[in-house]
This record gives sequence, structure tokens and C-alpha cells, in this order.
Amino acid sequence: MSTETNIRIVLAARPQGRPKPSDFRIESVGITQPGEGELLLQILYLSLDPYMRGRMNATKSYAKPVEIDGVMEGGTVAQVVRSRHAGFAEGDIVLSHSGWQGFALSDGVGLRKLDPAAAPVTTALGVLGMPGFTAYAGLLTIGQPKAGETVVVAAASGAVGSAVGQIARIKGARAVGIAGGADKCAFVRRELGFDAVVDHRADNFAEQLKAACPDGIDVYFENVGGPVWDAVFPLLNEFARVPVCGLIAQYNTIAASAADRLPTLMQQVLYRSLTIRGFIQREFVDQRPVFYRDMAGWMASGQVRYREDIVDGLENAPQAFLGLLEGRNFGKLIVRVAQ
Ligand code: NDP
Repeated sequence: MSTETNIRIVLAARPQGRPKPSDFRIESVGITQPGEGELLLQILYLSLDPYMRGRMNATKSYAKPVEIDGVMEGGTVAQVVRSRHAGFAEGDIVLSHSGWQGFALSDGVGLRKLDPAAAPVTTALGVLGMPGFTAYAGLLTIGQPKAGETVVVAAASGAVGSAVGQIARIKGARAVGIAGGADKCAFVRRELGFDAVVDHRADNFAEQLKAACPDGIDVYFENVGGPVWDAVFPLLNEFARVPVCGLIAQYNTIAASAADRLPTLMQQVLYRSLTIRGFIQREFVDQRPVFYRDMAGWMASGQVRYREDIVDGLENAPQAFLGLLEGRNFGKLIVRVAQ
């Protein structure tokens, strides 16, 4: 295993609207050796997630943007290849936040050791990691699904949505998924066991969604926004809960729509006693231990399944990420950086 050169992908330009390959740049730099109390990590897997689109903008958000010429941010599974840190040995596999690169130095802060015998290490980036936790905490804390209620989630074949629907079913609710295309819909219905699924690309999507939710919608776990939200909104029942997790359909939008729909939205929030509550998963950090316990148990019993979409080679990360923003991934998107 050579540790001579680090390949990394940096932000070359801030995208206007949809990002382009030229907004990224691949660089080759030397590797700095770890000092006392540090360790050198070799990245094995890089998670690609929708939030990275927000980090490419300079606008104020819940997290700092990536600087121009800065390494793109991202969650990673890595192996310790050199350790001068008492808590880590060479060969340890860890969850880190090392970004889009082949090697990274760490002082050990924020690393979590992974046990490859307990679960495939890639699951620490998906179903047993940040996306799975997002689904768990957002659905159970804000959505609070009850037996017999209807829970709807979009991007239902993806890392967050797939967990949302399966947890809803574990809680006795009826899970209705929304996904793009026949293959994803078949997977959500047959493999994940959702009660119904609707293709948001269908011409009569809104009608199909209404037919799939004959008793209305009690919980809508918002992952996408845009036209999907427009179809969901009229179907929300009195006292419906809407955890607002993500708005991927809007991430490349430069200007908001001219039509001011806020008065109508607020009127309906009032008339139907709706709860619409945004969240960032880290606010629920104290729930992580119970999440790991519950999710590992559900996976062991077969109640939660997952799908990963693994792309080979760090150099393919930009293209894979652009695909994620257009629904070309099928499952949790991960880049295999090294064997
Ligand atoms: P996914 O693995 O589900 O990938 C994104 C999916 O979004 C695509 O595969 C596609 O699925 C769907 N999509 C993309 N563009 C559109 C569009 N224009 N209209 C409708 N659907 C679209 O991603 P994740 O599961 O990782 O993330 C899902 C959501 O959760 C994102 O919005 C993300 O930002 C959010 N999130 C929020 C967190 C928080 O703390 N609040 C933490 C983690 C994620 P399809 O082809 O089926 O439409």
C-alpha cells in the first residue's frame, strides 16, 4: 500500500444552478506524516450525500461552505495506516469525516471504531450511519407515526427514505413510497415491503398518490420538495406531521418561484392544525446509542433492508454526485476509494 501521494478532489468553482464537472478539480499532493498524537488514515469508502450541494454555495446555512480550492467534505470509512495515537492501532477501521481524498491526517477526535465482523463497514455510511439515523430520529421524534396511520416518504429507494418507510411499518403504520422510475418503484414495493409506491415521474402522479392514500396522509417525511410537495400537500390530514428533512428538488434552484404561495400554506397550517418542522439530524445526537441498538436489531431480524450503490474510484466521485442530484443513484451512494 503506497502512502506517497494523496489524490484529492477540491471545489474549483461555486456552481450557478446545476453543478458541472468543471466545478471540481482533481489534485495530487504529498502526504504529510503523522506527528505525535496523530494518525494517518487511508480512505476506503466515501459517502456521497445531497447535503454536499449546499456546501458548494457561499450562502449562509446551518454549516460552513467548502472554501474554493478546499477539499470537498464528506463522511468516510478509513483504515489507520500509521498511528502515533495511543487510542488507535494500525489496521483499525474507523468512521471519519475525511472528505473526498485518498489519505487524511487525524488527531482522533470524532473517529468511531468500526467492527467489520458486526456489519459490512459501508453500512456505517448508510443504514447504520448518518442517513439511517436521520430517518430514525426525524420520523420517530417529529413524525410520531401511530398504528394504522399513513406515512408517505419520497426518495423512497434512497438511504433516508428506505429506512423511513420500513421503520413506519415496524411502528404499525402504512408506508407509501414515492420513487423515480419503474425499477426503483419495484424495489420499494417488493424488496423493502412498502404497502404502496407511486412513480413521481408518471403523468398522473398526483392522482396516483391520492389513490394510494385513500385515508389521506398523517405523516409526510419531506425529502424532496417541488412538485412532489405540491401533490402531497392537499392530502395532508388534520393534525398531520411533516418532518422537513430535505428539499433535493430545489438544491439547484437559483431563484424562488415568483408566485407567493405562503398565505395559502399558512392558512392550511392553521385550518388543518399541521405541524411542519425542519430538522438537522445532529440535533438528536443523544438518540444515537438507542438508534444503533434498534437499527442493528431490525437488520438482524430482517425488518430493515438496505441497498447500496457503489461506484469505483475517487476520480468518479464528481460524476456520481451529479447523478445523485438527478436521481441516477439507486440506493445509498458510496465511492470505493481503495480496496
Ligand atoms: P438518496 O439516496 O435518496 O438520493 C437522492 C434521491 O433524491 C435521488 O435518488 C432521487 O430519487 C431523489 N431526487 C433527486 N432529485 C429529485 C427531484 N427533482 N424530485 C424528486 N426526487 C428527486 O439521498 P438521501 O437518502 O441521502 O437523502 C434524502 C434527503 O434527505 C435529501 O433531501 C437530503 O438532503 C436529506 N437529508 C437531510 C438530513 C438532515 O439532517 N436534515 C440528513 C441526511 C439527508 P428518485 O429517483 O426516486 O426520485
